[in-house]
Amino acid sequence: MILKNTLVTRNNFNDFILPFYDPCFFIPTKGKGSRIWDQEGKEYIDFSGGIAVTSLGHCHPLLNKVLNYQSRKIWHTSNIFTNEPALRLAKKLVLSSFASYVFFANSGAEANEAAFKLARYYAIKKYHIKKNKIISFYNSFHGRTLFTVSVGGKSKYSDCFGPKPLGIQHAEFNKIETVKKIIDKNTCAIVVELVQGEGGVIPASKSFIRELRFLCNKYNALLIFDEVQTGIGRTGKLFAYEHYGIEPDILTIAKSLGGGFPISAMLTTSEIKSAIIPGIHGTTYGGNPLACAVAEATIDIINTKYILSGVEKKFKKIRFELNIINKRFKLFTEIRGIGLLIGLVLESKFENKIKDILYNSFLEGVIFLTAGKNVIRMAPSLIISEDDIIEGMRRFCCALEQL
Ligand SMILES: *Cc1c(COP(=O)(O)O)cnc(C)c1O
Repeated sequence: MILKNTLVTRNNFNDFILPFYDPCFFIPTKGKGSRIWDQEGKEYIDFSGGIAVTSLGHCHPLLNKVLNYQSRKIWHTSNIFTNEPALRLAKKLVLSSFASYVFFANSGAEANEAAFKLARYYAIKKYHIKKNKIISFYNSFHGRTLFTVSVGGKSKYSDCFGPKPLGIQHAEFNKIETVKKIIDKNTCAIVVELVQGEGGVIPASKSFIRELRFLCNKYNALLIFDEVQTGIGRTGKLFAYEHYGIEPDILTIAKSLGGGFPISAMLTTSEIKSAIIPGIHGTTYGGNPLACAVAEATIDIINTKYILSGVEKKFKKIRFELNIINKRFKLFTEIRGIGLLIGLVLESKFENKIKDILYNSFLEGVIFLTAGKNVIRMAPSLIISEDDIIEGMRRFCCALEQL
């Protein structure tokens, strides 16, 4: 039966799809640049960027072209073959990063799962079976597989799914003393987000990251940067670690990498590669030609001075508009983040109004995200136009008036 012409509505979600999510009341059907349209043809300005994914906006003409072209050549090979787009993308990632080798997967969680498994495998092969302890941070987010939620710093995401994997310890983000207390010779890795994204758009301090690198060197542990949200231009550099001047041993990227096509990658060094033999890890779709072709084009566009330097300019324009709004509404106490990963920390009187603010914004035709309890998060396209910024902020103003 072909259901193509059957009308579907938001209510059908409750009929057929498991309620792991509670999606917004309208259904987007079309996107172009930083604007999307719903079933009724109502138009919205998108500051959510598909949760920091659609970094080149919706349906970028060049990405459409590449996807189309690749779709007529070959879609899928599995890893019993390699393929040209995967090889080209891997080379590009290596040439533009600290890394010498790449592993492709399909989501942020899978890239992190691979990173945590590899860190343990490397430590156990190179040192001893007891060197398996992973240190991560409270409030951090690394994905939703059982290993990644357990490493993540919010127990509400891992509770009731036990028994949980062992050998994971949490320290406090930006508080190096709490790491020093628990790190020891059995630590195999520390994993950290350079900007805690889901946790409230909180940047790591430079001294904190420098000290983590020092501790990892001292205890022969690997430093893993989870750049799933910050990687590929989001912060105005191709990788956020470039702001810190510190290199990791393993780095994961996903969200922006495919500009909306599912793909992720784990990057690492030759030293760690030396532990790997074929067959110890894998995934059917990893390095899919469609995904890699789109990701290659995404990097080609983003990894240019023009786009990367535009990130800071666009942030400044948004900050300018937000400060005008704040004079009138006393909405937030602070704007934080790096580049176009922006968090507005709400004044306490607005804390329990965050849902209403987002809802009113939808009604006025502008889309934002939340992060944590009291932070409005923005992760717009890196090429959002000045007109879209101004119009989006005007709509935000109207939404706040209606509160
Ligand atoms: C989104 C995110 C993940 C998980 O990515 P998925 O693609 O949802 O599995 C992991 N780490 C960070 C920092 C993220 O922002």
